[in-house]
Amino acid sequence: MKIRKGQQKFKKQLAPLWNNQCALCGIELPALLRASHAKPWKDATDEERLDPYNGILLCSNHDVLYDQGYITFDGTGKIHISSEIESIDYVKFSIHDKMRVSRVEENKKYFKWHKRNIFKDNKNKREQD
Ligand SMILES: [Zn+2]
Repeated sequence: MKIRKGQQKFKKQLAPLWNNQCALCGIELPALLRASHAKPWKDATDEERLDPYNGILLCSNHDVLYDQGYITFDGTGKIHISSEIESIDYVKFSIHDKMRVSRVEENKKYFKWHKRNIFKDNKNKREQD
């Protein structure tokens, strides 16, 4: 109950920072929009959990890609796409490697945390032959 209330408050404060639309594809239908934490609830302090700059407004498709670490954003807001997604499939996910979100200074530390800790960058992925 407490978590749910917190999530609602978080979304309410975060959504206007992203003009109430998916930061990547511009979808505006509220039912499809999610306030996605950069530093997830379980890893965040009480203050960070409710900080509207700790996250990004995304449609349900892009929210799952972000939440699961298939995409991330660096300190400048540029997208990074995991090599687990083949570039031939980018169009299916409505992503491309030139995407950039208009992050503000306050987003930076959270975006960097996500990139470091959540992003599947495959540095350790074993080579397959
Ligand atoms: Zn989207």
